[in-house]
Amino acid sequence: GRIMAKSKFEYVREFEADDTCLRNCWVVIRLDGRNFHRFSEQHNFSKPNDARALHLMNRCAQNVMQELEDILLAYGQSDEYSFVFHKKSNWFKRRASKFITHVASQFASSFVFYWKDYFAEQPLLYPPGFDGRAVLYPSDQNLKDYLSWRQADCHINNLYNTVFWSLVQEGGLTPSQAQERLRGTVAADKNEIMFSEFNINYNNEPLMYRKGTLLLWQKVNEVTMKKIKMPQEAEEKEVQVTRSRSQTVPLHCDIIGELFWEEHPELLS
Ligand code: ATP
Ligand code: ATP
Ligand code: MG
Ligand code: MG
Ligand code: MG
Ligand code: MG
Repeated sequence: GRIMAKSKFEYVREFEADDTCLRNCWVVIRLDGRNFHRFSEQHNFSKPNDARALHLMNRCAQNVMQELEDILLAYGQSDEYSFVFHKKSNWFKRRASKFITHVASQFASSFVFYWKDYFAEQPLLYPPGFDGRAVLYPSDQNLKDYLSWRQADCHINNLYNTVFWSLVQEGGLTPSQAQERLRGTVAADKNEIMFSEFNINYNNEPLMYRKGTLLLWQKVNEVTMKKIKMPQEAEEKEVQVTRSRSQTVPLHCDIIGELFWEEHPELLS
């Protein structure tokens, strides 16, 4: 690199805190939309689940995985997304602030950049923001439990929201009446209300709403035609070139049980 003269001001760098993530730990960065309760209302999200918004979130997370280094997988639901960096990653010397700020800013700029692809009829009214945090998990079991925790959160919230909005939209209750009606109910009660009063079998609700979205890498073979000039021949000729490329794929599967990890042994190896 370039040689920089040291000035007498250099010492201020010593005030920077060391935020290196402990080696051998899984680094999880979780983002969450700032004040999305309001954002979703102002942008006329359908309740309880706006599919456009969820697909936009997934698109942003795919951009983050493609643009940044060493992300093994990502999991998202509602206005949040978690990114898991390889435990052996040495990206930016494992500085937590670099992980968090790159993920959050790449995600936020993608959210604005891709907005119109998902919300053709709905203008973006103001610039949204996302908070970010880094959490280290020293064991594979901790990481599995982290992801299970987020998916359980998705399930609990979605079950509540689905019955709540049925009571309001179909049942004609006010939001506070619906809240009152649901006070103290357990999962079985909520399923029963949905089934008997609104003919909804919760298990038939879309998987993306019930399970959230997991993004994994998948290798694909890309076949393209390429023009090449052979030294002995006058004409250029077209040949098939097959390249292996990695792309991210969305899944809406159960990640709480052991089955998922048994089916994807390569992830933690
Ligand atoms: P904070 O800034 O503390 O995160 P918040 O208003 O974003 O505040 P959250 O707990 O993150 O609170 O909840 C996000 C809210 O955004 C949900 O409760 C829901 O109202 C709304 N929301 C997010 N995604 C969607 C979606 N796809 N469809 C409908 N509503 C959504
Ligand atoms: P890193 O990702 O490590 O920050 P970088 O390429 O952004 O890499 P910086 O040291 O941040 O490296 O330098 C930013 C570079 O961007 C400058 O060296 C310059 O080439 C370019 N740049 C930034 N702002 C301007 C500007 N207003 N006009 C012209 N060039 C600019
Ligand atoms: Mg929050
Ligand atoms: Mg939020
Ligand atoms: Mg949230
Ligand atoms: Mg720079």
